[in-house]
Amino acid sequence: MPVITGVETLRVALPTRRVHKWTGLTEPIGRPLLVRLTDDAGNVGWGEAPASKDWGGEFGRYFGESPSTVAEVISSYLAKAVVGVEVGNLGDLHRRMDLMIKGHPYAKAALDIAAWDLAGRAAGLSVTQLLGGRVRDRIAITHSIGLMSLEEAAAEAELLAAEGVRAIKVKVGVDPERDIAVVKAVRRAAGEKVEICIDANEGWRTPGEAIRVVRALADVRLKYVEQPVMGIDRLAQVARAIDEPVMADESAWNAHDVLQIIEKQAAQIVSIYTTKPGGLYRALQVAAVCKAAGIVCNVNGSIETGVGNLANVALAAVAEVAELGCVIPVSRPAQFADGRIGGIYYTDDLLREAFRFEDGYVAVPDGPGFGIAVDEAKIDHYRLVE
Ligand SMILES: [Mg+2]
Repeated sequence: MPVITGVETLRVALPTRRVHKWTGLTEPIGRPLLVRLTDDAGNVGWGEAPASKDWGGEFGRYFGESPSTVAEVISSYLAKAVVGVEVGNLGDLHRRMDLMIKGHPYAKAALDIAAWDLAGRAAGLSVTQLLGGRVRDRIAITHSIGLMSLEEAAAEAELLAAEGVRAIKVKVGVDPERDIAVVKAVRRAAGEKVEICIDANEGWRTPGEAIRVVRALADVRLKYVEQPVMGIDRLAQVARAIDEPVMADESAWNAHDVLQIIEKQAAQIVSIYTTKPGGLYRALQVAAVCKAAGIVCNVNGSIETGVGNLANVALAAVAEVAELGCVIPVSRPAQFADGRIGGIYYTDDLLREAFRFEDGYVAVPDGPGFGIAVDEAKIDHYRLVE
């Protein structure tokens, strides 16, 4: 097999369909750091770190990363660790990265994603084949309604239901009365058939406040309640008091976190990311722990561009436990725009083809690597010059 010889990083900014916010987020979405890996046989692999300074673990357990910290960590440390690694040897890649620098999972995830893409392209196989094979060919998509006014949220929910979107996540965790009113408005606008879940991003101040809001939403029939408060112990308090399943997101970065969640019975659902544990290689370890404990999962993310979305689709396709609807944007470059908004957060994307999105599901792409080629002209177009 060839060896990795080149590591390049660059920043892009994709145009958004609308402002997308969640509790705690202070920066625009769609400004990730991209990684381009090359090997000595001329193959290329792409990865993405949708890093945000506002996104970390509970009580300072994991620090925020940002595109600029990821670029610095890669150029000063991780590039040295990955150059010379045999293409396809992800175990060695992670061992070397972890020996070089502790933490920085988003920087490691970008390199992991690019390394899988490179391995697939070098071998002529899809990444899902390299990861052990897909257990599903299509991924159920949950559309995220960010923090917005009641009127805007209801209008978006009505459009989504008319398009046939099956599941909506509503961002909450701002103010209890506002949150209750918005979620009820979304239920009224979307009708009874659409699944609705809520994500507070740790925003409710106490378990009591979270419990009160969820009880006030009994009529909405929430599919689950995502990260109502900060902290595994406090999550457990909420989980004991409400009927709806609790999903851990900010509390669940890696396999060790999930062991603690199991021990404390803090959540019935875990949201797995490609990025939080440091890449697909580590995400499958999270999935294995969840599987062993009977925890149900989805794949979630940070509203990635097409590069990261392809990795998330691959994870959802191979991880048996990822049976719930996934919050993965539907990548649809501008030339394929068709007026639909379900799963759409950007007005353009970085791929040569659009995701196939029908009946609420994205088809897992076939073909080498992640299955859809990156559009380098689009990357040049949206590149941020520093
Ligand atoms: Mg979340």
